[in-house]
Amino acid sequence: MINETTLVQHYAAVRQRIQAALEQNGRLEHVQLLAVSKRQSAEAIRYLATHTPQREFGENYGQEALEKMSQLGDLDLIWHFIGHVQRNKTRILAEHFDWVHGVDRLMIAQRLSEQRPPHLPPLNVCIQVNIDNEPTKDGCQPNELAELVTHISPLPGVCLRGLMVIPAPENTAAFSQTADLFQEMRALHQQPSHWDTLSMGMSNDLEAAVAAGATLVRVGTALFGERL
Ligand SMILES: *Cc1c(COP(=O)(O)O)cnc(C)c1O
Repeated sequence: MINETTLVQHYAAVRQRIQAALEQNGRLEHVQLLAVSKRQSAEAIRYLATHTPQREFGENYGQEALEKMSQLGDLDLIWHFIGHVQRNKTRILAEHFDWVHGVDRLMIAQRLSEQRPPHLPPLNVCIQVNIDNEPTKDGCQPNELAELVTHISPLPGVCLRGLMVIPAPENTAAFSQTADLFQEMRALHQQPSHWDTLSMGMSNDLEAAVAAGATLVRVGTALFGERL
């Protein structure tokens, strides 16, 4: 497991990278840091959450996440599901997570909305866009977005917050293309004020994502080191 002092240093370094990218691009707003903790220990999460202001954690696998949630139930953490959303796994997500980033079909959003327990606030969701137009990748095609925003935004059990993207490394225009789509789609949302999240940028490319307008970056290895 990663040394605890190193973890706090990594956290400060990632915050510094985000801040530098904001300043370089004359951006004044805050960028949210999502700590991607998949295949990292519950102890590492606990250390980060008790020694830094970090509260938002991202997981890719339902079962692994549930185990960590139960081990860390005494902490007030916010859990984001950032993995591929399988049709038959939506209930776990609807019942246990605060956010789901990878919604790319209306049927998935409908299931999450129906399965969200009524005592919980609506589940925050982002639509994943396949900005590279690669047939094998997750995410909707850019030309499907308008219809998805129109039909997902009124669903009662979810709160549609924005877009999520994982572009191919060589697609250097992808972040700004996604940022343009993000601006265009706001007008189609039933509650445009909720359309506030552009989830893009990871350990290796967060500066480029922030430069293009990311409001949330998802960072794993730059915080926790290599995964188990
Ligand atoms: C694993 C993962 C990340 C974090 O990647 P790093 O390169 O470790 O920062 C971010 N987003 C998604 C969707 C991931 O699956």
